[in-house]
Amino acid sequence: MKYILVSGGVISGVGKGIIASSTGLLLKTLGVKVTSIKIDPYMNLDAGTMAPTEHGEVYVLDDGGEVDLDLGNYERYLNITLGRDQNITTGKIYQHVIQRERRGDYLGKTVQIVPHLTDAIQEWVERVARIPVDASGQEPDVCIIELGGTVGDIESAPFVEAMSQLQRRVGKRNVRQIHVSYVPLIGTEQKTKPTQRAIGDVRSAGLWPDLIACRCETPLQEPTVQKIADACQVDREQVVAVHNVSTTYHVPILLEQQGLLHTISRLLEVPAMEKSPTLV
Ligand code: ADP
Repeated sequence: MKYILVSGGVISGVGKGIIASSTGLLLKTLGVKVTSIKIDPYMNLDAGTMAPTEHGEVYVLDDGGEVDLDLGNYERYLNITLGRDQNITTGKIYQHVIQRERRGDYLGKTVQIVPHLTDAIQEWVERVARIPVDASGQEPDVCIIELGGTVGDIESAPFVEAMSQLQRRVGKRNVRQIHVSYVPLIGTEQKTKPTQRAIGDVRSAGLWPDLIACRCETPLQEPTVQKIADACQVDREQVVAVHNVSTTYHVPILLEQQGLLHTISRLLEVPAMEKSPTLV
């Protein structure tokens, strides 16, 4: 099983869900079976009790799971059917660990965030990633894990630690990461500092993103892309730009035009493309 972790920095609502779904869609064009897991680091058990005015509409899955709208993006972009377990919240994972503690599963040990909660997150992810989600009924090859919120928040810290542990355990070549950042436009200038800081934050949290996806109002200028690559000490091809588009269904094309599929399939060691994907 291969994983792609999609995390975010600078601001929430930066477009992680769309970039995660689009990456999955591009991988599907290679014949790869893709599933997804959305992590929402809030204490609610699920989105069912959250005000739509604050959180957006609740998306209801086939099994009755009440979840974040992003799960709907995954189902539509990837033509898959997800279940409630494909959405992990802080509330759900704590409830799971506390139920185990009450049952005596920890044999009198002091139950801690590390390693007990972080182990539970990894076990959950590895179990759910294997659930067939498409008509083939076969186990998926790649699981896209979207980590909600922004890295550096207290809320997401246990999940970030768990993902870092997962990467060390199953190997960097099996867990690749796209960090989505925001490039604000001040006048006509595209500012790279927030992205530099966001990459610093994610690295100090123990994760080393393979790709930096930059959301910006307007198409990123080449000097801006190069500056981000230089300042973050990555290759030019590791920076992709996602500007505002009239429909989010253009995002997969935008990413493909920048060679994302080639880069990610090489990083994940997914068999090379024989032909270019057909997206339009
Ligand atoms: P996050 O997962 O980071 O919270 P989402 O992927 O849910 O962000 O996107 C937040 C909002 O921005 C959604 O309404 C989505 O449709 C919109 N959006 C995302 N990417 C783009 C884009 N490139 N152009 C225009 N709108 C976008």
